[in-house]
Order: sequence, then structure tokens, then C-alpha cells
Amino acid sequence: MVTECTYCGQDIYDHDPIFVAEFEHGTRVQDKQFCNYARLSAYIDEEDLTEGASCKVDF
Ligand SMILES: [Zn+2]
Repeated sequence: MVTECTYCGQDIYDHDPIFVAEFEHGTRVQDKQFCNYARLSAYIDEEDLTEGASCKVDF
């Protein structure tokens, strides 16, 4: 089982871990994990994961 933070590579169980799952080919796939929400937030910012992605049509 992978326990390295997707963002910084540290052992997530040394911190306050959270897990991110995506939906691929009809299956829930856990493919990312982070030390904490701060690491997740930094990862999202660096990867521009919110760019063009929204569940709402207009703001
Ligand atoms: Zn980390």
C-alpha cells in the first residue's frame, strides 16, 4: 500500500492524511493521498486542477 504523499513524498501517516479518489471506467479509484489539506491545496494550485473544471455552468 502506498503511503507517500502525492505532493511531497513524505509518509502521510506521520501527519493528518486525506485521500483523493477519482471515478474511472465505472470504478472508484484512489490514486492520490496527501499529508493534509494544505498539501492537497498546494497540489491543486500547482497542477491547475480547478482550471476549466466546475459543476456549475455560470457564476
Ligand atoms: Zn505531503
